[in-house]
Amino acid sequence: MNKKRKGINTICTHVGEVEDKQFKGAVSPIFMSSSYAFEDVDVKRYPRYFNTPNQEALCKKIAALEHAENALIFGSGMAAISHALMAFLNVGDHIVLQQTLYGGTYNFAVTQFEKYGISYSFTNGWDSEDFEKEIRPNTKVIYIETPSNPLLTITDIEAIAKLSKKYDIVSMIDNTFASPVNQNPIDFGIDVVLHSATKYMGGHSDICAGAVASSNEYVHKIWEASICFGGSLSDQTVWLLERSLKTMGLRVKAQNRNAQKMAEFLYENNDINAVYYPGLKSDLNHELAKRQMHGFGGMLSFELKESINASEFLKSLELIKPSMSLAGVESTMLLPVLTSHSLMSPKDREKQGIKDGLIRFSVGIEEVEDIIADIEQALVKVKSKTMLV
Ligand SMILES: *Cc1c(COP(=O)(O)O)cnc(C)c1O
Repeated sequence: MNKKRKGINTICTHVGEVEDKQFKGAVSPIFMSSSYAFEDVDVKRYPRYFNTPNQEALCKKIAALEHAENALIFGSGMAAISHALMAFLNVGDHIVLQQTLYGGTYNFAVTQFEKYGISYSFTNGWDSEDFEKEIRPNTKVIYIETPSNPLLTITDIEAIAKLSKKYDIVSMIDNTFASPVNQNPIDFGIDVVLHSATKYMGGHSDICAGAVASSNEYVHKIWEASICFGGSLSDQTVWLLERSLKTMGLRVKAQNRNAQKMAEFLYENNDINAVYYPGLKSDLNHELAKRQMHGFGGMLSFELKESINASEFLKSLELIKPSMSLAGVESTMLLPVLTSHSLMSPKDREKQGIKDGLIRFSVGIEEVEDIIADIEQALVKVKSKTMLV
């Protein structure tokens, strides 16, 4: 079935371009119109209808990357996630959500569902039995995120797809952390794949966008809701995202390699208590990750020894930027407690295993020796400060 599919870098570079018929330029021309003819045309085009020439072309690229029939792009990852969820959930429905989720998605669930008459349950674990336990007669959606943020837990994608089919429930996955380079959930039977394109798809920390990939039928259903909610992406950013995607394969593979080396380095370091990375052979999820991922990704997290202050450590870094967000070509670190998971109550954080000293590490494409040297000097600096006190 997959015989004809082109390699990832070929898809990134060539699929879903706007042909420059006028000048035969090598890259897509950008069409900025927000007003198109309505008579004698096949398609009535309008930016909020997700069908400008640049939007349509980019959707083809993203669909090809995720082995999907179709795709949609949005103004942010949360727009993609919220529009997709609201397309499938009605008053009286129920959704089962994975316990460990991106902070914004968690926040969406706990602040928005109730007012629309939608009930929700979070699982107590990551096994398919944990999800099955929460299913009710009115459950319409099962929602997973793997690898998860920030602890890089791995959910068995195939098991969740099977479970969803057994109960006739729509399965959705947030595939942001893996990117389409490392994981293609549709191959395992997942219905709807979601992305914050702000992350690996954009890859340069300069775009905010989101994407959905699914069957023609489901993309149409999501489209019908989305044109009402209106979360489309501007054509300038569409164009920039298309440009960014051309190097996604190269970038992410470099990040995979660097993250593996960083995880091994941190694992051996006496100042580090724990490392969470599915690429480590010692990681509980290593075998499962190997089964469903082509690469283990550029994200990892770790806990410093209790005697080392995590904020001070971050301030001592010189190359690695202590900054929000993730997946850019530059290495960044943050404290989930102060950022992505700050909206969560301390009790819920504890339940999810997110400690105050946990550091999330988005590994970039720099020379890995330079990243290691930066961590080493920061540890020396922060430890000498602690001794002076
Ligand atoms: C960033 C992120 C989102 C939200 O995306 P935005 O583009 O910030 O709206 C959703 N899921 C994951 C895993 C993310 O990292």
